[in-house]
Amino acid sequence: MGTIKLSRKALIHNLDIIAHQVGGKDKIAVVLKDNAYGHGAVLIAQTASEYGVKQAVVRLEREAEEIVRYFDNVLILGQKPTQVHPHFSYAINSLEEIAQYPSGARVELKIDTGMHRNGVFPEQLEEAFEKIAQRGLICVGLMSHFRAADTLSSEWFWQRKIFDATKIRASALAKKYGWSLRFHISNSAGAFRSAECSDDMVRVGIALYGCLEMDKTLEQPELQSVLSLWGDKIATRVLKAGERVGYNGIYEAQSDEVISTYDLGYANGLDRLASNRYVTPEGIELRGRISMDSASFAGDAEQLMIFDNANDYARIVGTIGYEILACLDKDLKREWID
Ligand SMILES: *Cc1c(COP(=O)(O)O)cnc(C)c1O
Repeated sequence: MGTIKLSRKALIHNLDIIAHQVGGKDKIAVVLKDNAYGHGAVLIAQTASEYGVKQAVVRLEREAEEIVRYFDNVLILGQKPTQVHPHFSYAINSLEEIAQYPSGARVELKIDTGMHRNGVFPEQLEEAFEKIAQRGLICVGLMSHFRAADTLSSEWFWQRKIFDATKIRASALAKKYGWSLRFHISNSAGAFRSAECSDDMVRVGIALYGCLEMDKTLEQPELQSVLSLWGDKIATRVLKAGERVGYNGIYEAQSDEVISTYDLGYANGLDRLASNRYVTPEGIELRGRISMDSASFAGDAEQLMIFDNANDYARIVGTIGYEILACLDKDLKREWID
């Protein structure tokens, strides 16, 4: 069913670059949501932990449970607590949800500095802290999220300013409740936007995996893609001139040619929009429609590298590397190559 190959060297290289950029390993929180962007959450957690990373971020409790043994704390972005865990913290995304939290839960308050997806407004800070305290929760952080740190515009600056002003008020207020807060707003692009990191932590996902793409006018870190996707050959045949391959026969051989079918299809994350158009980095052309569990390519290689940087595949289908990675089948075989 295809193989995902992971480069530990590339991952360490990226961690070195990120640590250098933000001023130390201590400031890195690795984002491992959605199976670590398709890489395999436990594999990435283990390596990041060996490297010295102490913080992780996921979406669900189930994901946190899988990796918590590797970290001091796991921040859960998208689920309300069903338990009180000493090494979990939960992002509070609205004032209303506070009432549903179990007493004793550790939380981090999300401030809406301009993304306008979720979080409480800066002017609701006092009310939010009061509700958190009344509920018996322990606030351990204040966070926000940039909406356009990867593009050259003023957006990054005004969100940064709003967050900085809110940090000052929150620090003063936290003393009253006896809380010690950590502050974080940056994703990967945010972490590379300014020379120094003025927060306690950055939440890095795509840079860790080596697929960060900044605006061409912004400085681009020299990251390396960690993941490559490979297909294993199911069968080879000669397509005679005029014969067609796959559903609806959209590819017709102009002369006799060898084609092979590999064990990866759209059910495994190979977006069907690349049908009949994709060319691998080694110049091997995709032939015909991508099926649910297989796809055909020119040639007869036993194992075929489909891509070694998800951004290349993403460009062909009109999306971003994040989506290609996050949609990789959880059941694919995953192995380190170095
Ligand atoms: C996914 C996510 C991140 C990581 O973003 P990258 O661009 O992959 O670095 C950071 N913070 C939050 C809240 C996220 O949801």
